[in-house]
Amino acid sequence: MLFADVELRKSDRTSALEKLGLAVFKRGRHRVFAQPCGCFDGRHCAIYEDRPTHCQAFECGLLQRVSAGKLTAAAALKTIAQAKRKVARVESLLQKLGEEDASPALTERYVAAMSAPVDLASNHGPDHQGQLMRQMGELMELLEVKFRT
Ligand code: SF4
Repeated sequence: MLFADVELRKSDRTSALEKLGLAVFKRGRHRVFAQPCGCFDGRHCAIYEDRPTHCQAFECGLLQRVSAGKLTAAAALKTIAQAKRKVARVESLLQKLGEEDASPALTERYVAAMSAPVDLASNHGPDHQGQLMRQMGELMELLEVKFRT
């Protein structure tokens, strides 16, 4: 939810990571892999021991505050649960607006849903787009304030 893709470093072995399930592609001069990550099972990294360099180094803002003793683990878990509820609301609205393929990044699906023509014959289309805009705004604010570094 935090990023649309993650950059590989020179030390990362692309073909080995692809065999493990990462969808690697080029963005400009950089090799990146798409998010949501194909190696995330909803709770864990399925290739934790072999994960890319950026994944090994990354700590979200929430984890940094817990590590520094500025936030309890219980409070961090509450924030994670809150973020998951917001993601679920956004997902539900995306589904209602026809964005059923969950493989693109959430931000890409949001842009697609919001740029689709409004179906004036539908009682719900414009209403769902308005709700999606509000829910996505709340989710992005939470991610920015609590998770990004
Ligand atoms: S830590 Fe694992 S699941 Fe998460 S982005 Fe990296 S490879 Fe994917």
